[in-house]
Amino acid sequence: MARWMSARDDAELAQAASRLFQAHFSQEPEGVWAAPGRVNVIGDHVDYAGGISIPFALQANTAIAIRRSGQPTYRVVSLAPGQSEAAKVEIPINEVGPGNPDNWAGYVVGAIWAAIEAGVIPCAEGLDMAIVSDVPVGSGLSSSAALECSAALGALELATGRSATQPERTALVDACIRAENEVVGASTGGLDQRASLFGQEGKALVIDFQEGETTLVPFDLSGHGLVLLIADTNAPHALNDGQYASRRGVIDDVTAAMGANTLREVDNAVVRAAAWAEEEGRDAEVTCKRVKHVVEETDRTAEAAKALEADDLTRFAQLMRDSHESLRDQYEVVTPELESVFQAVGQRGSRMTGGGFGGSVITLVAEDEVPAVAERIVQAALDKDFPEPTFMVATPGNGARRIA
Ligand code: ADP
Ligand code: MG
Repeated sequence: MARWMSARDDAELAQAASRLFQAHFSQEPEGVWAAPGRVNVIGDHVDYAGGISIPFALQANTAIAIRRSGQPTYRVVSLAPGQSEAAKVEIPINEVGPGNPDNWAGYVVGAIWAAIEAGVIPCAEGLDMAIVSDVPVGSGLSSSAALECSAALGALELATGRSATQPERTALVDACIRAENEVVGASTGGLDQRASLFGQEGKALVIDFQEGETTLVPFDLSGHGLVLLIADTNAPHALNDGQYASRRGVIDDVTAAMGANTLREVDNAVVRAAAWAEEEGRDAEVTCKRVKHVVEETDRTAEAAKALEADDLTRFAQLMRDSHESLRDQYEVVTPELESVFQAVGQRGSRMTGGGFGGSVITLVAEDEVPAVAERIVQAALDKDFPEPTFMVATPGNGARRIA
């Protein structure tokens, strides 16, 4: 029998966060906030290049219970999914900044720090925080953004005593990206935070990173008798281990050499990147493949948005497959565990999702075929001695919000 990931509803999650808070701080929290993980349906490794992505917010969330302590420190405890013991960090407020803390707590206090620096959170004050989560960690479903966005929104709303406005949410996106890039040192590009802060039930987001525009589009597969099945390979990745940065580095270098702000602005990017690589004594073939992925993935995602609008899921499914193959053959971020799932599902709409180097694969599956397809994926993994994948049927949920 395939194993399924579980996600609690808001009330259960709020209760769990409050309980953890009480156990560690012997007081009631002032409030509890939640932010979801996200699944990127198509458009990977394009956010940092001015491209287009189509993610949606998951119904799996990270919740944070917060209370102002009146002390000059942040105290954080976190119980990650599947863990029986909470991790703890205590850090003086004035020690938080670039590179510190560079562990998991950097996502939490780093996001708050960056929001204070940006003037979105009005002042720094000591906080006690207790975190519980249903977003699997390192599975390509953005547990890191769920952590940042819940903490930043909670700290902001607690400080102001009201709900965050849309412009404040936009500013929090940037603060959370800064925490990830500068405090923890993961050079990710902003897709995750936007989805986590702006997601809406029943909707996917079409994010154009060049224009800085997010449009909500209906994402309802049930009219076609389909669901989006997530298979987590359980071969975890860490986006701050250098591989992700090396892919991004090529794109950033080409962009800078062309005197552009984003790769999207560069005309004829593949040809020009090859000529530049040749001149610079870099590997022209590799440079070309990387740039080609980013250019084509952006075009593909623009077409996917049109296919969604036209309710043409046959075309959409084909674009998902093309995307996976490009991430595999040109961007080279697909691991054997991811490829095993992709091959096991047959000719369905399917692709790896997220940064790659591990994580999850998503597949459009007919509702009544879900158990059989999941079994086939498990069997394929076990035949190769890979970890046993776990599953989730994903439907679009709401973005970050107060839950208690
Ligand atoms: P993803 O965001 O796809 O899950 P990342 O590598 O970007 O993968 O982020 C995973 C990291 O985020 C973990 O290594 C850990 O540092 C941190 N993290 C995520 N969720 C939690 C949590 N609930 N508690 C503590 N740390 C967490
Ligand atoms: Mg992440």
